[in-house]
Amino acid sequence: MSLIVQKYGGSSVGDAEGIRRVAKRIVDTKREGHDVVVTVSAMGDTTDDLIDLAHQIAPIPDPREFDMLVTTGERISMALLAMAIKSMGYDARSYTGSQAGMITDAKHGDARIVDVTPIRVREALDEGAIAIVAGFQGFNRDTKDITTLGRGGSDTTAVALAAALKADRCEIYSDVDGVFSADPRIVPKARKLDRVSSEEMLELAGSGSKILHIRAVEYARRQGVTLVVRSSFSSDPGTIVYNPNEENQVEEATIAGVAHDLSQDKITVVGLPDVPGSAATLFNIVSQQGANIDMIVQNVQTQNDGVTDISFTLPKTSSEQVLKALDSAKAEVGYEELRFDDHIGKVSLVGSGMRTNIGVSTTLFESLSSAGINIDMISTSEIRISIVTNADLVPEAARAIHAAFGLDGESEAVVYAGTGR
Ligand code: ASP
Ligand code: MG
Repeated sequence: MSLIVQKYGGSSVGDAEGIRRVAKRIVDTKREGHDVVVTVSAMGDTTDDLIDLAHQIAPIPDPREFDMLVTTGERISMALLAMAIKSMGYDARSYTGSQAGMITDAKHGDARIVDVTPIRVREALDEGAIAIVAGFQGFNRDTKDITTLGRGGSDTTAVALAAALKADRCEIYSDVDGVFSADPRIVPKARKLDRVSSEEMLELAGSGSKILHIRAVEYARRQGVTLVVRSSFSSDPGTIVYNPNEENQVEEATIAGVAHDLSQDKITVVGLPDVPGSAATLFNIVSQQGANIDMIVQNVQTQNDGVTDISFTLPKTSSEQVLKALDSAKAEVGYEELRFDDHIGKVSLVGSGMRTNIGVSTTLFESLSSAGINIDMISTSEIRISIVTNADLVPEAARAIHAAFGLDGESEAVVYAGTGR
């Protein structure tokens, strides 16, 4: 008998009908002879609504109470799902994160899993029941408080359970058929991928693809969990996210797809002294604001005037704070001027085939030049090339790159709902 962990996102359990549809899928899996553990997210927009409510009460809600509040969303969906399964004649038991042994550090709102002790989940399985675990939440042993894993954290709950229970696979259900070669909402000819390596998936998730939570992909890669990304609205087999070294799976030298990200801004520090320590001082100030820096570009000194410029991108949510901090540290850093651009977007091409194929960057830059798209910044990794351009040009840039690498499918992709969660 095999053990399957299934995670259903908020859009799959949006209403009573959705809960019944998901319950039926779970029961079908059980009927096929598998042990089933389910992780579920909060129904529809519940988490957003709870967060709005918290902000109506307090501008900066108390972190402990905030986690206490937002974890209720998953408690609703797990209990309803268990009821639905029971009414179909199968045994099901729901568990909160703490009941299921999801032990985390104490960082409210962004806790890390430190241990998983799913004793009660095991017991339920041994007694023939389906275990349902609330996503996105855990428990800290020192503070004895409830924590959350950060937005979208239910994917990580599912992967952590799959690893701890040594599940045969972990299926992540949302409202799209799998991982696509681009976001079908901006690249209509995007194709569903049958397989993608965990390494490529990590780069895609880190470059703006929202189909999987990046921490879940990292966790699955570290623990060797095989992920399957599927839709709960169709019978498509979905996309397998495989770990190359396992089961003799060789890595395929492919171009996986194009990801885009409109969640960043750009800051340029003009006239920075070109001496050792400048960048350290600058980015020390930036990191003190808790900002997660993505791309950094430093120019070479061109005028022989002892100064240079550094540009970097950062999440929109950090911009205001970072600009303020840099402004007050102007004398300490010694720059001339700050420039801010809040209308940028990033487009990335990802594929393990880049390692061996030398023409990739040429093809990419030529495709953008034919489309008349001006590049603002460029960064690369072993298996990724990212460019920054004007936000309005992102859809066109993504389409141009997608076509240039022969990724376009025959027909237009089906988009069931809207969120991809
Ligand atoms: N319900 C939580 C959120 O919306 C967790 C999740 O969906 O994975 O962020
Ligand atoms: Mg959600």
